Amino acid sequence: MKRADTAEIIVVGGGMVGLSFVNLLATRWPKRATDVVVIERTPPPDWQSEVGLRVSALSPRSTNILSACGVWQGLPAERCGPYRRMVVWRNGGPGGNDTIEFDAAEQGIAALGHIVENDLVCRLLWDRAEAAGVRLLTGAAPVTLERSRDGVQLALDDGLELSARLLVGADGAASWVRQTGGLARRQWLYRQQGVVTHAQPELPHQATAWQRFLPRGPLALLPLADGRVSVVWSCPDERAAELIGGGQAALGDALTTASEGVLGQLQPTLPARAFPLVAAHASTYTGDRVVLIGDAAHQVHPLAGQGANLGLKDAAELAQVIGEFLDRPAADPGDRRVLRRYERARKTDNLATLMTMDLMNRAFSGGHPALAALAGGGLGLVNRVTPLKRAFAAYASGGTDRT
Ligand SMILES: Cc1cc2nc3c(=O)[nH]c(=O)nc-3n(C[C@H](O)[C@H](O)[C@H](O)COP(=O)(O)OP(=O)(O)OC[C@H]3O[C@@H](n4cnc5c(N)ncnc54)[C@H](O)[C@@H]3O)c2cc1C
Repeated sequence: MKRADTAEIIVVGGGMVGLSFVNLLATRWPKRATDVVVIERTPPPDWQSEVGLRVSALSPRSTNILSACGVWQGLPAERCGPYRRMVVWRNGGPGGNDTIEFDAAEQGIAALGHIVENDLVCRLLWDRAEAAGVRLLTGAAPVTLERSRDGVQLALDDGLELSARLLVGADGAASWVRQTGGLARRQWLYRQQGVVTHAQPELPHQATAWQRFLPRGPLALLPLADGRVSVVWSCPDERAAELIGGGQAALGDALTTASEGVLGQLQPTLPARAFPLVAAHASTYTGDRVVLIGDAAHQVHPLAGQGANLGLKDAAELAQVIGEFLDRPAADPGDRRVLRRYERARKTDNLATLMTMDLMNRAFSGGHPALAALAGGGLGLVNRVTPLKRAFAAYASGGTDRT
């Protein structure tokens, strides 16, 4: 037998971005939090005693957003490491001519960012949303979408029928909402994989994010609070397969060589996994009573760790414009004018970041001789020219609060 229910807003996808959006909305609009429904295919992640494999480098702007959600304060310090320096180099080891360094103290801030576990943040966001009264449905996914002038109707695979005035797609890169809602997207395959693991370094990581641009893709070593580093090594598909299939010891040796021994010998402590790297952008983020946020709208190369940071800015912007609008009498959150305001505010930042990451990947690792020559001078040059460096640093730490 079919069951039916109604809501004001349905969010498909309870990842970091979708859950941040509903928490921000519930904070702004507490009496109507029960009018928001989240549909998430998988159960909320458990707290693990082992640090989770997937981590994100979050900018100060993102930590402000998670504070506004009420969860940043609840992250245990031993599972949330700050990074105070960032050192990026190509050849000759860090500190040479081909190096750029950022320092939180130089910028007058406590940290350039924090390394957090995706699952842990999601779990805290989930619990917070539940406590606020948001309706959270797990183990279900939508199968059909119908739209009328006044709203959307979804049928779920567990038999429930849901209607609302706005459908938010926060369902990640393969977004069902984007595809079913008919919102086109362009994508560029890098033919690279991000090989991810945690490793124990021989030398202390010094709360520094280390990144080396190698000819076939960047290698990042991000400092974890427990003294290990989170590894993200972007490399061609066949090299990723070799690294994953070669065993822990061989991977450790390859990482040590690739990082020019900056942290001494690296010893992987978790089985490595590979994630295909893609750049993608939806041509529009809004349709009739449909809007996209996070990876559903855009995907960027992870070389500067910006994907979740951009998604959190989307979540904050959409919650802000909808929240302002809902204060008005008879407001309709699916009003296209409101959704377009969000899109206008976010598209330029997202697209500019996507293109910058793409250019950096090609210039520093792509083997294009002209770009590589320019980039080689560029790292040292940017490091020496203070205003340029300041601009890069502001960008690397999430920019200003303009969005
Ligand atoms: C190797 C690698 C390293 C990265 N490092 C960083 C970093 O350091 N910093 C950073 O900012 N970003 C980083 N990113 C990017 C970041 O991981 C993503 O941008 C971010 O996780 C996107 O969040 P999201 O909530 O939009 O999507 P997702 O995390 O993909 O969440 C989508 C959710 O929707 C659910 N879902 C999907 N389809 C359906 C459906 N049909 N019905 C119901 N539920 C559904 C899924 O189960 C999931 O929970 C990295 C990415 C990679 C690949």
